Amino acid sequence: MVDEFIAGIDIGGTKIAVAIAAPGGEIVARHSFPTNPARGPHEALNQTCDVLERLTSSKSLRLTAIGIGCAGPLDLERGVVTSPPNLPLWREFPLRALVEDRFGIPVILDNDANAAALGEHLYGAGRGFKDLVYLTISTGIGGGIIADNKLVHRLGEAGHITVQPDGALCNCGTRGCLEALCSGTAIARRAQEELLEGRQSKLKDMVQESKQVTAKTVEDAAQAGDDVASEVWQETIGYLAIGIGSIIALLAPQAVILGGGVVAGAGEFLLAPLRKQLDERVRIVRVRGVHILQAGLGADSGVYGALALGASVLQVEHASD
Ligand SMILES: [Zn+2]
Repeated sequence: MVDEFIAGIDIGGTKIAVAIAAPGGEIVARHSFPTNPARGPHEALNQTCDVLERLTSSKSLRLTAIGIGCAGPLDLERGVVTSPPNLPLWREFPLRALVEDRFGIPVILDNDANAAALGEHLYGAGRGFKDLVYLTISTGIGGGIIADNKLVHRLGEAGHITVQPDGALCNCGTRGCLEALCSGTAIARRAQEELLEGRQSKLKDMVQESKQVTAKTVEDAAQAGDDVASEVWQETIGYLAIGIGSIIALLAPQAVILGGGVVAGAGEFLLAPLRKQLDERVRIVRVRGVHILQAGLGADSGVYGALALGASVLQVEHASD
C-alpha cells in the first residue's frame, strides 16, 4: 500500500504555512511565506497550492487529504471564508471548494484558532487535558475549545467578547473587545497613544529606527522598568484577566493554553501576573486548578492543527469503509 500523506495549510493574517506529514504525524516537508493581505485571496491561494504541489512532486508524495486552518469567521458548512477582519479582501471566498477542485481529494476547513487548539491538544502543551481552551494573541485574538477530547466546531469568536464597556473601537465594528485592547496590534496602538500625548518614555528611543511601536517593544520597555510601557502592559494583563476569567467561569476548562506572537515573546512575564490576577478575579471556579500554560508548539500550533484536521478526514473515511 502506498503511504498516505496529509497536507496541512495554516492561513493567517501575517503568514501562510504549508506542511506535509507522514501517516505517523511526522512532518516530512514544509514551507511558509507572507500572506500579504493586500494582494487578495486568489493570488495567495494559487501560491499556496503551487507550494504544495512543488513539495509533493519533489519527494513523489501521494496526498490523500488536506486540512486547512484559516482566519475566521468562516461558514464551515459551505467551506467559505465569510468576512475576516484581518483579511478584508477574503470576503465570501470559497476556499474549500477551490482547493478540492485543484487537488481532487477531501479537504477539511476550520477556523485557524480551532486548528491551533487541536494542534496543541494532540501534540503540544494541551496533551493529556480532555477539556481545554486555546487562545492566540497575535495580530488579532482568536480561540478554540476542546471538550471531551473533541474540537468544538461551533465556537464564535473569542477575541470579540467585551472586556471594557465603551472601550476602544474594534475592527468588528463594536467597542471594548478583548482583541481591541489586548492583541499585539492593540498593545502597540495603546502605547503609541500615550506617546502622542507627550509622555516621556524609553519607547521613544527604542523605536527611533523603525518609527513604529510594536507589542514586543512595549514588552521590552516594560521589562526594563519604563513607566508608560509598564502601565500599558499591566492594563493589558488586567483586560486579559477579565476576558479569560469569563471564559474560565463559563467553561471551567482543565487548561487554558496561550499562543501567538505576544505570548511567545513575553512568556512568564505575561503568564505569571496573569495567573495571579485570574486567581483574584475568578471565585466561582477554582482557578488554581486550571493550568494557564504557554503553547508548546510556538508558531507551529496552527499548521500541526491543520494536519490533524486533514488526518481526521481519513479517520472518518476509514470508519465508513
Ligand atoms: Zn471586536
